This record gives sequence, structure tokens and C-alpha cells, in this order.
Amino acid sequence: MRIGGIEAGGTKFVCGYGTTDGTIEHMTSFATGNPEETCRQVIEYFTEHPVDAIGIGAFGPVDVKEHSPSYGTILETPKTAWRQFPLLSTLKQALGLPMKLDTDVNCAALGEARFSTETDRPNSLIYITVGTGIGGGAFIENRLIHGLLHPEMGHITVQRHPHDTYGGSCPIHHDCLEGLASGPAIEGRYHTLAQMLPEEHPAWSLQAYYLGQMTANLLLTISPERIIFGGGVMKQPALLPLILEETDKRLHGYLQLPKPSFDGLSGLMGAIALGADALKEQGAAQ
Ligand code: ADP
Ligand code: ZN
Repeated sequence: MRIGGIEAGGTKFVCGYGTTDGTIEHMTSFATGNPEETCRQVIEYFTEHPVDAIGIGAFGPVDVKEHSPSYGTILETPKTAWRQFPLLSTLKQALGLPMKLDTDVNCAALGEARFSTETDRPNSLIYITVGTGIGGGAFIENRLIHGLLHPEMGHITVQRHPHDTYGGSCPIHHDCLEGLASGPAIEGRYHTLAQMLPEEHPAWSLQAYYLGQMTANLLLTISPERIIFGGGVMKQPALLPLILEETDKRLHGYLQLPKPSFDGLSGLMGAIALGADALKEQGAAQ
């Protein structure tokens, strides 16, 4: 069985395929353009590389309710060309395969959970990405969490640091967590790219001050067995230990925050896991 995965991101699309045990056999990526052109590229990829089913991890907000008539349609995104675009049904119609779709971060959480080693496999896990935006996906007691929509963890309100005067970069809320601690927030505050800031720069303890509030609140509300951080900003090695310290300070020490296990590939691996589920469900329905 060859299962396809698509990481449908706001800046780039990653397409690939692999086996149900999470081995990626091939992948490629291209910049996200308008929906029609981008889908054309995806369809071309899977025509050249035939697969048995596909899972999609998409940027949001997106309808993730399987029984909804607009399942897989992009909702009110700031990327206006994609608003109301039926991503899943467009690809399904063109490729005629079993497919499932969830958010990019839910897919990454699924990838981390499903492909952890047997002895190390958590029942509940939250995956947080800190990049251009901040988002979180939750895999709790063997299923991905949806509700009214899907979690939008990056937009929670955090307590501002008393010395931080930066207005915030979130177009909707200004100084939500994403507005204060995403890559663009770092850039807006220090007028340089996050990757240019050295390890000893005060930016990293401020980042930890905000992200540590998120982890503490997640542990208090959902109590996941594991929280995993990914995304470009987390490439700064000083950051994770500082987040741990901040969380610990807030909670007095009951947690573990390991690094992503799959080196930036958990999103694609999770999309493949979702594709495998789509295939299994289609088999069960026949
Ligand atoms: P996206 O969120 O668009 O999928 P990324 O997860 O790669 O993309 O995040 C991009 C952000 O990560 C940018 O704001 C960039 O400045 C920041 N970034 C990239 N590399 C590093 C690094 N080595 N250290 C800190 N920040 C980084
Ligand atoms: Zn926000």
C-alpha cells in the first residue's frame, strides 16, 4: 500500500507518499499559489506518483467535520483567494481516492502519536508549531480533537510581560500569543529575523515567558501526557529549555516537553497516517 500525504501550508505545499508504518518514500514541495494552480500541481504529482489513499493536513480555519457538507473547505482565512475553496472535494473529484483532511497541526500531532515507538506511545499529546503563526493540534485518547471548529491555540490571550511594549502582530487580536511570540512578532519587535538573534539575546526568555504560559495552561486544562514543539522559531536551541523553566516556574514541576521526534516531518507523516485511515474506513464501509 502506498499512502499519499499533503501538507497544505499557507506558504508552501508539501506532497509525498510512504507506507503505513510512516516511512516516507518520496516528497516534494512548491510555493502556495492560487487554489486552482496549486491543486493542479498536487493533481499532477499524484498522477505521476499513484497512491491508494491521501491524507491532507491543511492550514486553517478549515471545516474538519467529516459529516459536514463543506468538509475540507477552507473558511475565513486572511488568504482571501482561498476563502470558501473546497480543497478536499476538488482533489477527491480529480483523483477519485479515499481521502481525509484535518488541520496541519492536528496531522503533526497524529504523526507524532502514531509513529512513536510502542513503549513510548502517549495516549494524549499536543503538538504546537511556532513559525509564521502559532497553532496547536491535540490527539487525546486516540482521536484528534475537533469541536465547534478545531482548536486555534495560537490565539489564546496571554499576560503581557511588564517590559514588553510591542503592539503585537496578529491581524485579528493584535497581542494574543501569536501576536506576541510568532516569528513575525519577533521580527516586528527587534527589526530582524528570528534566526539572526543569538542564543543569549533577551528575545528568547521573552519568547519563553509567553510560550510557557501556553504550556502551563494546556497542562492545567487538558493535561496531555506530552507536549511537542515544532516550527521554524523552535530551531533556536536555547528556547526549549527556557520554556521548560518558565512552565516549571508556573506549575512547580510536573511535566516533560520533548522535541519533535521526526525532524520536521511529523506533519507529512501524520497526513500519511490520515490517508491510511481513509483507506481503512473505505474498506470497512464496503
Ligand atoms: P511556516 O510557519 O510558514 O510553515 P516555519 O515553521 O519555517 O514556517 O517558520 C518560519 C519562522 O521561523 C520565520 O518567522 C523565521 O524567522 C523563523 N525561523 C526560521 N529559522 C529559524 C531559526 N534557526 N531560529 C529562529 N527562528 C527561525
Ligand atoms: Zn490572534
